[in-house]
Amino acid sequence: PLESQHPKAVDLSHHVNKVSSSIRGSPLKHIFQYLREPGMVSLAGGLPHPNLFPYQQLDLKVYAPDAKIIPGETVTSSMNLSIPQYASETHQLNTLSRALQYYPGRSSPTLTALFYDFTARIMRPGYADWQILLNSGSTDGWSKVVNLLCEPGDYIIVEEHTFPSAHSLWAPMGCKGVPVKMDKDGMIPEDLERIMDGWEQNHPEVKKPHLLYTVPVGQNPTGSTLTFERKKAIYETCVKHDIIICEDDPYYFLQLPRYVSPSERNGINDTPQGAVSDADLLKILVPPFVHIDYQGRVIRLETLSKTLGPGNRLGYFVCNAAFAERLVHATEVISQAPSGWSQAIIEELLVTWRPEGYIRWLLGVRENYGIRRDWICDIIRDVFDVLPAGNEYNDDFIAVKKGHGQLQDTKSAPFFSFTYPKGGMFLYIKLYLSQNPKFRALRNAAENQDEEANEKWTREFWKDLIQEKILLTPHFFYTPPGNVEKKEESDVAFFRMTFSYETREDMHIGIQRLAKAFEKNWEMEN
Ligand code: PMP
Ligand code: PLP
Repeated sequence: PLESQHPKAVDLSHHVNKVSSSIRGSPLKHIFQYLREPGMVSLAGGLPHPNLFPYQQLDLKVYAPDAKIIPGETVTSSMNLSIPQYASETHQLNTLSRALQYYPGRSSPTLTALFYDFTARIMRPGYADWQILLNSGSTDGWSKVVNLLCEPGDYIIVEEHTFPSAHSLWAPMGCKGVPVKMDKDGMIPEDLERIMDGWEQNHPEVKKPHLLYTVPVGQNPTGSTLTFERKKAIYETCVKHDIIICEDDPYYFLQLPRYVSPSERNGINDTPQGAVSDADLLKILVPPFVHIDYQGRVIRLETLSKTLGPGNRLGYFVCNAAFAERLVHATEVISQAPSGWSQAIIEELLVTWRPEGYIRWLLGVRENYGIRRDWICDIIRDVFDVLPAGNEYNDDFIAVKKGHGQLQDTKSAPFFSFTYPKGGMFLYIKLYLSQNPKFRALRNAAENQDEEANEKWTREFWKDLIQEKILLTPHFFYTPPGNVEKKEESDVAFFRMTFSYETREDMHIGIQRLAKAFEKNWEMEN
C-alpha cells in the first residue's frame, strides 16, 4: 500500500454489536497460513477441483468509455455461448440485459423454471406445492434459514461432527448445538429419537429444539452418507416432534460406487469411462429428504458450488410456499438476487446443454471424484496394513503400522479406523489413543482432566503433522458449540482428509508423511 500523509483511523470497535463481535468466521480460513509453507501437502481444504468447472474461455465485448449512448434508443445485448463439440448449436439468446437488471424478489424466471423441472425430475419432492427460490449458494441459504426459524438461544439439532461455517453462524446468536451420535453411515436415528423423546424429562427448562441441520451425503467432515432407511427414520422422528429439517446437500451428486481394490477393478484407474447412462442416475442416488417429505417440513439447500464451481455463488431453496414467501422478502432486503452474471451464464449453459447434458456433466463430475476416492483408499492400503475392523469399532477397517498386520501383540493396535467413503470429498479417520505413550503421559499427569489431555494431545499431533508437512483438519474444528450432551469418548481423536484436490503423487507423499508421524508419536519407529 502507498505511504499516506493522513493519520490512521481511530479505534471505533466499541461500536460493534454483541452478535458481530462473537462471530468467529470459518475456522477453515485459519489453515491458509500453513498452506503457504513450501512443500506442504494439503488434504485440509474441501475445495472442489478447478478442472471440474465447465468454463473454457470467457470473452466479453464491451463499449469504449466514450461510446455515444443515445437516450431512448433500443439497445440489446446478446450472449454467445458455444460448446466446441456442439458447434452447430451455438445460442444467441438475449439473457444479458435481462439478467443484469433488477428482478423482483424471485430472480430469473427461466432459470427458476429450469431448476423446478430438474428438481421435479430428479429430487421428486413428496408433496404437491413445493417451490424453488434462488439464492447465492448454501452459505447464504443457511443464513436465511437460521434467520427464518431460530430465536436467540435456541437449540439446534446437528450431527456430532459438523460443518464449521454452519455453527459459526448461529453461535453468536447464543444458539447451542444438540449433537446426535454418528457412525459410519452418519447420524444415528435411534439417538435422535432418544434425545427428543427424553427432552422434556432431561432438559425441563430448555425450549425443545425445532430445527435439524444435516449434511446427508458425503457429510462434512465425516464423509458419511445416510441410507434411505435412516433418512426415513429421521424424518418420522421429526414429524413426531414437529422438527423442520434443513438438508444442506452440496455433495448429493457425488454419491459414489462402492470402493473395490485395484486387483478387483483392473488396476489403477485414471480415466473416466463415462459408463453410466442418464437413465441410471435415479438408481444410483439415494433419494433426498425432500423426496420423503410428505408434509413440507424439509428445506433443501441446493448449490452449484461442487458441480459448476463455488464462485458462481448460485444455489436454491426447495421448500414449502409459506417459508418461500418469507424467504423471498428476506432475499429482497438482504441479497436482492444472485449475481446477474451467474444467472445469465448458468441459464445459457443449462439451456444449451439441455437437462440431459447437465445430467451427463454431473455423472462426469461424480466419476472424477470416484477416481480420486479410489486413489486415497488405495494409498492408505499401500502405506498402512489395513484389516477388517472387529465389532468393537464403528468403522469397517482398522489401519496398523505397515508389516504389523499379522502381529498379535499391542503393536498391532490400530492407529486409526476408517470406512471407504460412499460419497463426497472427505475421508475421516478415528485415532485410538489408549496405547499412545504421549497421550497416556498427558492423561496420567494430575493436572489434566481426560478431555484436556485429549485436546492437548490432538493439538500437539496436529502440529507434528504440520511439521512433517502434511495438513489435515482436526476434529475440534467440527465440534458444535454449547453441547447439552456431554462427549463420552476421551481416548479417540479424528482428522479429516480431503481427496478432491491433490494429485495422486502428492496424496501418496502426504499419507507416507502421516504414517511417519504416527510411528514417531506412538514411538514405533523401528
Ligand atoms: N469456506 C467456506 C465458506 C466454504 O463454503 C468452504 C467449502 N465448504 C470452505 C471454506 C472450504 O471448507 P471445507 O474444507 O469445510 O469444505
Ligand atoms: N455446506 C456444506 C456442508 C459444505 O461442505 C459447503 C462447502 O463445501 C457449503 C455448505 C458451502 O456451499 P456454498 O458454496 O454453496 O455456499
